[in-house]
Amino acid sequence: MDAILVVNAGSSSVKFQVFALDGEGRLRREIKGQMDGIGSRPRLRATGTTGDTLADRAYPIESIPDVPAALLVAAAWLRDELQLSPLAVGHRVVHGGPDYDRPVLIDHGVVARLERLTTLAPLHQPHNLAPIRSLLAKFPSLPQVACFDTAFHRDHDELADHYAIPRRLHDEGVRRYGFHGLSYEYIAKSLPNIAPEIAQGRVIVAHLGSGASMCAIHGGRSVESTMGFTALDGLPMGTRTGQIDPGVVLYLMSAKGMSPAEAQDFLYRDCGLKGLSGVSNDMRELQNSSDPWAAFAIDHFVYRVALHAGMLAAALQGLDAFVFTAGIGENSVGIRARIAERLEWLGVSLDPAENARHAPRISRAGSRIPVYIVPTNEELMIAQHTLSLLCDRHSSSIPKQVRAS
Ligand code: AMP
Repeated sequence: MDAILVVNAGSSSVKFQVFALDGEGRLRREIKGQMDGIGSRPRLRATGTTGDTLADRAYPIESIPDVPAALLVAAAWLRDELQLSPLAVGHRVVHGGPDYDRPVLIDHGVVARLERLTTLAPLHQPHNLAPIRSLLAKFPSLPQVACFDTAFHRDHDELADHYAIPRRLHDEGVRRYGFHGLSYEYIAKSLPNIAPEIAQGRVIVAHLGSGASMCAIHGGRSVESTMGFTALDGLPMGTRTGQIDPGVVLYLMSAKGMSPAEAQDFLYRDCGLKGLSGVSNDMRELQNSSDPWAAFAIDHFVYRVALHAGMLAAALQGLDAFVFTAGIGENSVGIRARIAERLEWLGVSLDPAENARHAPRISRAGSRIPVYIVPTNEELMIAQHTLSLLCDRHSSSIPKQVRAS
């Protein structure tokens, strides 16, 4: 089977998916897996197309000390037990910096350039790059592609890209990058099929999951994002603050004596829905809780989404459609209804029955702003990019009809 392996590596887990390539060049997900508990209790779990278990096994801690080792064990499992050797590997890489506005075929020079961006994303970039480096060393001829969360936002107007700080900081990379770009790109590419009448229009996409952001898209291109220099900005998230006055960070450090590392840990891990509610970072748990602070955290989340929608509508100078995606956006009838209610002034009118059945279009027929649910698929986006670059590289050896759909 010709296949593309998609890798999403974190600090203590590595998620992977295998996409098979059919004779017509279409990609279909065959395997979804994860090695987690790396450094504590490593465990490989994988399922097939129908959710059937393909692997569920524990490993001794010393056999998988880090993420690169975990990926090599998963790759060996794919090769030895499923006879699967991927044509190429596509990686999710959080930061492409100022220069990468599209995916790139990886070589040592690219890795060196991406390593220099570690200071911009210290929590993610090193974990994304470590398995790339080890695959490059062990399988130097295996094509690898880096797909960036920032790339889709790279042609923002200068006005959107700058902070009001001295330009020398912008020049060294302190910019409003925006993240979740693979998710937004997938949705922008899907809209012509789902709703051709709005695909070229002005659309707000709300990616509401444990990480949450919103993107203003015009004519299929990102023009503004709620996230900025880091994925801390914008909406409150499961454990991240979202937008906060930088004065609060100064206060944490000067009055509360936090070191930069402690402040970072606090802002990324102890805030958001978790910090505000004191109950959970998980939206479903908050909805099931009777604690009044759980309800308050949900109210706050809904309020902030609506507030940022106003900002993005201003960036777009109007609005033609609104799209919900990711865990909360795709699944929570109640949160969608409450956000839509706050957007009535913009012309949103939700159809409760369509919303309750998670229909693709959940607004009333007469709603001035149509509202859609579009399940995101960042991994398929990575597989498609990887295949495209592979086709470009090997255009003579890969049949012409093989093109990412
Ligand atoms: P993601 O990061 O996209 O996987 O989204 C995870 C978030 O989606 C968590 O906060 C979940 O509680 C939330 N979520 C998933 N399903 C539902 C649901 N049916 N209702 C409310 N929240 C949900």
